[in-house]
Amino acid sequence: QGLHDLNEEIKKKPPTGFDKVKAVVVVLSGKGGVGKSTVSANLAAGLAMEGKRTGLLDVDVHGPSIPRLLKLTGNRPGMQENRLLPVEWHWNLGVMSIGFLLPGKDDAVIWRGPAKAGVIQQLSEQVEWGERDVLVVDCPPGTGDEPLSVLQIFGDKTLALIVTSPQDVAVDDVRRSITFCHQLSTPIIGIVENLSGFVCPSCGAVHDIFSAGGGEKLASEAGVPFLGRIPIDPEVARSGDDGDVFLAVAGKSPSAVAFKKVIAKV
Ligand code: ADP
Repeated sequence: QGLHDLNEEIKKKPPTGFDKVKAVVVVLSGKGGVGKSTVSANLAAGLAMEGKRTGLLDVDVHGPSIPRLLKLTGNRPGMQENRLLPVEWHWNLGVMSIGFLLPGKDDAVIWRGPAKAGVIQQLSEQVEWGERDVLVVDCPPGTGDEPLSVLQIFGDKTLALIVTSPQDVAVDDVRRSITFCHQLSTPIIGIVENLSGFVCPSCGAVHDIFSAGGGEKLASEAGVPFLGRIPIDPEVARSGDDGDVFLAVAGKSPSAVAFKKVIAKV
């Protein structure tokens, strides 16, 4: 065996459970609490409703909120030949979350670094997704080791979607997320500005509480597409709490319209 063959052998990666997934959309945010999980869940639900074969993977080890958002708390994934099987949601959306593997919904997740890295790697590689057009990944926030390993694991298939809030834009976190993607040569689908303006429950109009539009400005400065603004809408928070996220994308509220516009661009 020549040296060349040996190198090729080493480079060959073992098969993963996402080999038949066409594209992986990793949802990133500069910090927590900007609605990254809400956007991930609504995006995945919206794509599945359109008939795309979609998966949703929640590797946010600090606060796995996808099971609650989709009313799947308490589900346990099945196993097939040492691989985990996604939990089925409506419209054939397959869902996997670190939350499905914890003993109880209120268990605190205290991981040491290496254990956390191991769990992220296992969840990313060892779930049998089968044929999927798109896998949406709810990534831990920030630009540290955890999102780094997620982007590296999904490699060439990865596209990033960055979620920000009007305040977040002001504190440079988003710039860091953009640089992070550039450094890893991960193409950026675009930036979504969430919590952008408030839908007034009595008049239905959108009021800007914090100065909105920073996401759009930043996107144009960085040469990255701007995917849209999603207002603060009590309906989005309620649908998340009640686990009927699809109402947030299927409804007629300003936030639902905004989500639909974002989904159409992905
Ligand atoms: P992250 O994943 O970035 O930590 P979450 O998606 O968990 O953030 O959202 C944080 C909180 O904000 C949740 O209670 C969620 O329901 C709420 N939220 C997110 N986006 C909106 C929105 N557009 N309108 C109203 N509430 C929202």
